[in-house]
Amino acid sequence: MSQNTTLQTEELFKKIISHSKEYGFIYPSSEIYDGLSAVYDYGAYGAELKNNIRAYWWQAMTYLHQNIVGIDAAIFMHPTTWKASGHVDAFNDPLIDNKDSKKRYRADVLIEEHITKLQEKINKEIEKARKRFENFDENLFRSTNPRVKEIQEKIQQIEERFKNALEKNDLQEIKQIILDCEIACPISGTRNWTDVRQFNLMFATQLGSVADEANTIYLRPETAQGIFVNFLNVQKTARMKIPFGIAQTGKAFRNEIVARQFIFRMREFEQMEMQYFVKPGTEMEWYEYWKEARLKWHKALGFSNDYYRFKDHVKLAHYANAACDIEFKFPFGFKELEGIHSRTDFDLSNHEKYSGKKLQYFDVEENRRYVPYVIETSVGLDRLFLAILSAGYKEELVENETRTVLSIPAALAPVKAAVLPLVKKDGMPEIAQKLWEELKYLGKIIYEDKDTIGRRYRRQDAIGTPYCITIDNETLQNETVTIRERDTMQQERIHISKVYSYIEEKTSIKNLLRKL
Ligand code: ATP
Repeated sequence: MSQNTTLQTEELFKKIISHSKEYGFIYPSSEIYDGLSAVYDYGAYGAELKNNIRAYWWQAMTYLHQNIVGIDAAIFMHPTTWKASGHVDAFNDPLIDNKDSKKRYRADVLIEEHITKLQEKINKEIEKARKRFENFDENLFRSTNPRVKEIQEKIQQIEERFKNALEKNDLQEIKQIILDCEIACPISGTRNWTDVRQFNLMFATQLGSVADEANTIYLRPETAQGIFVNFLNVQKTARMKIPFGIAQTGKAFRNEIVARQFIFRMREFEQMEMQYFVKPGTEMEWYEYWKEARLKWHKALGFSNDYYRFKDHVKLAHYANAACDIEFKFPFGFKELEGIHSRTDFDLSNHEKYSGKKLQYFDVEENRRYVPYVIETSVGLDRLFLAILSAGYKEELVENETRTVLSIPAALAPVKAAVLPLVKKDGMPEIAQKLWEELKYLGKIIYEDKDTIGRRYRRQDAIGTPYCITIDNETLQNETVTIRERDTMQQERIHISKVYSYIEEKTSIKNLLRKL
């Protein structure tokens, strides 16, 4: 039986981090020099899993839609790009320091976490009452219980003040909210805070050898702008008609203030973004369309529905007229996994203004030119990786021993199958090697002949290999092999000539795509 529910969330998160390292998924960057904060390297199985997730996204976007094409833009862009996009002036996080612990925090995150704690208090009251009363009516309880009402009102007040302060960029008020909520530093326990300051998240560097301001360029903080500046190039050369989308995956860089939580918040990470260009006035329809389409894409992975929820943005970004997140239930709570934003014509219009070039679409049916509106879907590849690991990680008691298994979709698994000769004699290794030669075109296939078969199964379970193929005595007699399925541990015998099509059918990304 799965024991995930009994693992404390913090404990589960710690286990995932150490499992990732022990089994070759993720290492701290430059570890021999004690690592680099919030930067990570992907190991042998991590790189495969990441490639497979990326392929699932890429194929869902560009193969399943006639009107979506992919590009691969450079990380460096002309510096004016980031003026036009608003990043030079407005890509800031409000930061605050605790004077005693000298620790730095994002002021908005401190407030959001405080709100989450208050919400948890309400949930506790509800759970207590649910146990006490038969026919418990949650809505009635929420609207009548004085304690719950009081906390709810407090939350509303904080949210209202916080939203106003953000809109007015009132840093003094943000600090005041922190003081009024009596938020203390988790390290020092004190409320001895500095003022709140804005901090730009872009990494800057110099182009060429001359270090003056004119040569300052930035590591892109999002991949989207590479799509916007290429909008007309792609529209013309790929002969696209509105509505159409441009998809891209690639590295993005942010000098995050609070970079904890493993690969959830990194300074160098990868995004998978799609900008969908639509006729002005139709953007809300498409916004709703992409909200549903993206949720469906996530749910096709097969984790239960209660891992996902939508959250509308409290404060809209300067470019958006609607925005929400798909949140995922990480071991540390529900957090943003993907953003879906209706970005209006903000980006294209601003690039027109700053570049002096027209970025308009000629609509033949309407016989007019316009700057299209844009719906963006933006998901972090690393965050998705963490989501898949945390939903897939399981510890089970099997014959009084703990089995650790990564129950991740077979189509994404880093290793598609392992070929295992039962013993290292009687010609079994030769048959297994020959089978490996056949299967290697299907993806990463492991051949292994060391240790007992039980230990070899466990190692494959721990890296999420969906199928283990064992060559045994019976193989020598009738050319059949056993195939063991990872999650059920059930074994079946099939003829060796059928193994290729069996593994191909069960582990193909097409299986996920067909659910969409
Ligand atoms: P957050 O509120 O968590 O900082 P964001 O709203 O700034 O995220 P977006 O700008 O909407 O994020 O970026 C789109 C996606 O990119 C996010 O949903 C997330 O999956 C991913 N992402 C953003 N910042 C990071 C980061 N520092 N590390 C890893 N992934 C990130």
